[in-house]
Amino acid sequence: MIRPGASPEVYELANSLGIESPDPAVGIVIHCRRLVDSWVTQAGGLGPKGIANIAAFESLITQKLSMVVEEIRSDDDFARLTDHYARDKGDYVFAGLRARFDDLEIPAFGVLIQRNVVSPHAPDQYVAVIDARADFSNEKFARRYFTKWHEIAHRMTTHCFPADPIFRSDDDPIETLMDAIASELAFYEPFLEPAIQEVLANANWLTFDMIESIIERVFPEASFQATLFACMRLLPTPMVYMELADEPLVIQKILPNTAAYAHWDRMDQRVDDKSLKGNPVVEDRMTDRPPSGSTRILYGQTVRHDSVFYRVAQGELLADEVEHHLCDFFNPEPGLFLGRFPSEPEVRMYSQKPAHGHRGVLTHVQARKVPGKVFALLQY
Ligand SMILES: [Zn+2]
Repeated sequence: MIRPGASPEVYELANSLGIESPDPAVGIVIHCRRLVDSWVTQAGGLGPKGIANIAAFESLITQKLSMVVEEIRSDDDFARLTDHYARDKGDYVFAGLRARFDDLEIPAFGVLIQRNVVSPHAPDQYVAVIDARADFSNEKFARRYFTKWHEIAHRMTTHCFPADPIFRSDDDPIETLMDAIASELAFYEPFLEPAIQEVLANANWLTFDMIESIIERVFPEASFQATLFACMRLLPTPMVYMELADEPLVIQKILPNTAAYAHWDRMDQRVDDKSLKGNPVVEDRMTDRPPSGSTRILYGQTVRHDSVFYRVAQGELLADEVEHHLCDFFNPEPGLFLGRFPSEPEVRMYSQKPAHGHRGVLTHVQARKVPGKVFALLQY
């Protein structure tokens, strides 16, 4: 869902893949999607006689890429991989894997290894090792599905780095690009689109129950958040995902889908509120509720106890009671992201400088408390 901006590394990668596109990141995502589409067609298409489900889809892709996926479910699995790949097959890089996954500074979630001692037609020339241990935060376990597709994305583009994988930080443009490809493939549209239509039926908004139903039936290994983002990416109605700190409730993350961005891009929808200049957080404390009675949605905003949003987050209001409530969404520079998703650092940087916004009439809001934060989905 996050579209990386163009960077020299991304241009270089597009070049090496022979992709010519005004937006090389988008070009690379499309390239991967087309390749996968052609494999699915060769395998008889989707359906009971071809690729029946997402598991069969994954097997097809990994086979085509001569790669296998190894999940680390418990610490014992490191010994198993050492026995299998290092002792039996002579690929000693596997013996030292654990240190990378347990690194305190940059713990790896997944690693893609090109085997050294292997015949050129072996099905396991590449091994993706995925940390799926349920540690105290459960983050690695929750992200295992996405991590696996992230490594598949590497195999399709950057290939891999023999013996010594390069570790990049989360905001590296290549890593962001791998996430964009992972999102495209892990939630393969020909599976996701009909699943969304089925759960939506005649409903006008997406609910958390619907997301859970999609996970259960179609993407059993996927996390809630990754599935939610994938659905937001496909749906044509404006939606904004938000994360708030637990107490006091402060908006910490705002991620609109493409349809919501389309509103932000329209200059004429500027919200006429002259008090919104300068630091939004300070001004929120100084000023009372805006004259319209709307709720401001911007980074750093504290959510007041009497606000409709606070009550949704606390579970005091039923989601459908927020209908017709006004929200003012703020964005710094309309046109800045040009219909693509900003990266998280971009959101953090720009959403602190509100200049323009647009007003939306809510149709649905749902929030859920998880340890340390509240996340919410606003639809309008
Ligand atoms: Zn990576």
